[in-house]
Amino acid sequence: MTAFSQLSGTIAERIDQVRETLPETVRLIAVTKQVSIEAMRTAYASGVRDFAESRVQEAEAKQAQLCDLTDITWHLIGHLQSNKAQKALECFQWLHSIDDLKLAQRLDRLAAPLPQKPKSLLQVKLLPDPTKHGWAVEDLLDDLSTLNQCKNLSIQGLMTILPYGLPASEASAAFQKTAVLANTIQQQNLPYLQMHTLSMGMSNDYALAVQAGATMIRLGRILFGDRPT
Ligand SMILES: *Cc1c(COP(=O)(O)O)cnc(C)c1O
Repeated sequence: MTAFSQLSGTIAERIDQVRETLPETVRLIAVTKQVSIEAMRTAYASGVRDFAESRVQEAEAKQAQLCDLTDITWHLIGHLQSNKAQKALECFQWLHSIDDLKLAQRLDRLAAPLPQKPKSLLQVKLLPDPTKHGWAVEDLLDDLSTLNQCKNLSIQGLMTILPYGLPASEASAAFQKTAVLANTIQQQNLPYLQMHTLSMGMSNDYALAVQAGATMIRLGRILFGDRPT
């Protein structure tokens, strides 16, 4: 894993540097787990309006402290325990980490009374990785018709996280396969499964993800420096 502790420049400068390399079609999501409120305000002042957190509780605490910034869009990117599903629907407009059918169905039930359907992504594992959640490709294909019944989730596409330390060629191939998978699903014309959003790419590999067609990249360390371990 690349260390980003040696990065030069302020947060604002780093945000600008990354932005300059991005096509307009790519939405930069600032990953702010373990990042201070002060650094988040700096990112906001630099124009960032999309913030992502891994944990519901951390997001809730930060949202209380940032409640004066009313135009932030909040993204959940971490594994969601079913007992936090209701809270997650209250805290986040985007759910990137829907990682199995049971969770999708539970969120769908809970979202029924909501005026705004949560924008949702299906987390898929292109490579076997026991440390990560998400559907294996074959399992996702098996579950599509059931997912298409989750009408209270506004399913927008796929999210993926690659195993750490992949060579660039393998990372590229995995991102490209994710894009192909989204296309394959789109072609089935299931009315409640939109597939135009691809959330893929982190600090280490976002350039490869963008080349492969990412529409959202999730950046933490390259903007804010290394997290304490
Ligand atoms: C932490 C995290 C990121 C950001 O990773 P960096 O290496 O800090 O850019 C992106 N996506 C998910 C799901 C994460 O948990």
